[in-house]
Amino acid sequence: MPEPTTGKPLPPGMILGPDGKPCKVCTSFRHWKPAVATREQARSKTAASGAATTLAASSTLASSEIRRADCPPDSEELGRATWTFLHTTAAYYPERPSPAQRANMLTLIRSLPVLYPCTHCADDFGQDIKVNAPDVSGRVGLSKWLCERHNEVNKKLGKATFDCAKTDERWKDGPGD
Ligand code: FAD
Repeated sequence: MPEPTTGKPLPPGMILGPDGKPCKVCTSFRHWKPAVATREQARSKTAASGAATTLAASSTLASSEIRRADCPPDSEELGRATWTFLHTTAAYYPERPSPAQRANMLTLIRSLPVLYPCTHCADDFGQDIKVNAPDVSGRVGLSKWLCERHNEVNKKLGKATFDCAKTDERWKDGPGD
């Protein structure tokens, strides 16, 4: 883990990037909430006394309510968007892909550890796919393989694992009526 390049204390939960600077896309915005609340408190102190109720309300807002819609992604938003892309692409991958389709899928998967901007996520994913080689043989195998990789991240983050028998329902067909 790199050392911070600034003397300033980091917001709790902030992760540094390889350049030693705070890495927004490596960090969950939820972890910045105390810092956001503190700024709100400072502003409120200088406001009229009636602002006290505004402060109370603002400091209990969920991070999604505090956050502007046009903010750059944090690690969670980027993760959700990336998983959506990957699982959906796997769900529509051919049953019997051509050699070119297999090669392109392998390139896509292997580019993540190199290019994914949440660097600690990328490093861990790279380690995982070294041990668990991508299955690009067809739609079913790829969807299962990807579900298992996502479950590895879920476990690491202390989240419930997903039932990999339900990948088509989640990413292609939708729930049955
Ligand atoms: P997500 O985990 O993003 O899932 C989105 C949706 O996918 C869920 O709502 C669910 O419907 C479905 N889903 C969940 N699990 C599965 C599954 N196994 N198979 C199919 N569908 C599923 N974050 C970190 O903090 N640290 C990391 O090291 C890290 N590594 C990552 C590596 C990669 C390659 C990616 C793409 C993301 C990584 N993330 C990491 C982000 C993290 O996985 C989540 O995306 C983020 O925490 C937001 O989680 P979420 O609970 O909103 O749902």
